[in-house]
Amino acid sequence: MPGRLQYKSTLITGAGSGIGLESALLFAQEGADVLLVDVNEQAVNAAAKKVAERFPNVKVAATKADVSKEAEVKAAVDKAVELFGRLDVVFNNAGIMHPADDNALNTEEKIWDLTMDVNLKGVWWGCKHAIIAMRKNPTDASKGLHTGGSIINTASFVAIMGAATPQLAYTASKGAVLAMTRELAMVHAREGIRLNSICPGPLKTPLLMDFLNTDEKKNRRLVHLPMGRFGEAVEIAKGALFLASDDSSYMTGTDFKVDGGLTSCY
Ligand code: NAD
Repeated sequence: MPGRLQYKSTLITGAGSGIGLESALLFAQEGADVLLVDVNEQAVNAAAKKVAERFPNVKVAATKADVSKEAEVKAAVDKAVELFGRLDVVFNNAGIMHPADDNALNTEEKIWDLTMDVNLKGVWWGCKHAIIAMRKNPTDASKGLHTGGSIINTASFVAIMGAATPQLAYTASKGAVLAMTRELAMVHAREGIRLNSICPGPLKTPLLMDFLNTDEKKNRRLVHLPMGRFGEAVEIAKGALFLASDDSSYMTGTDFKVDGGLTSCY
């Protein structure tokens, strides 16, 4: 059976760890060529090695890039097109959450700016250069390939709900990702470019576990989780795969929640 991403060229940011790494494994398993992008060079190289070893039949490469820098994002997109000949899927997933006391009274401007630069501006650069590349994709009906593509932007459940644990800059950046994704989805819908946000619930990845760094903090969060557990990164990757593939061909502009029921919970 052909993979759900067979012949597709994909690029994933934040691919050195967590959701990004699990998505790279899943995309490659489904037949995609994958360019893994991360600011952590050692992590992204190790991640690419792991993907390549497990899935030798697809092309896998790694590149170091800081998503908050436009030139680095453009270079990563150009590299994917050069290596794989086109670019069908971009998963703008890299993100940071500062462990500092991030509330309206205490957050330092430099933390606010850094968070916005990575989580919001980074997604903008990823969308901008993905759109430029996807417009040039040739159609090849025999392989199910077409002009345009699918862009997935990682937001968060905190983009939808107020978090009682202070993470103001993070929450604001993720809310803006939803708004920006919706607007870009409307503007580019007739070009065959779909844009959707994915909203993960709380996960067992370094990003959240470094923030909830005591059992008391973890347990406070667990009380609010309908399923009584943190999610696994691979459970978000499966949602990203759906949005990346043609299985979601009539979906654009959505806030796709993969959150164990959290955002439906009272
Ligand atoms: P993670 O910390 O495991 O992975 C994030 C990766 O992003 C790391 O490899 C890191 O090096 C990379 N990165 C950080 N800054 C970067 C930059 N400037 N340029 C390029 N790469 C950079 O975290 P994760 O849980 O897999 O998070 C992935 C995304 O999911 C993030 O956008 C995060 O905000 C979002 N998210 C996570 C949770 C959670 O509970 N973990 C919940 C909701 C949303």
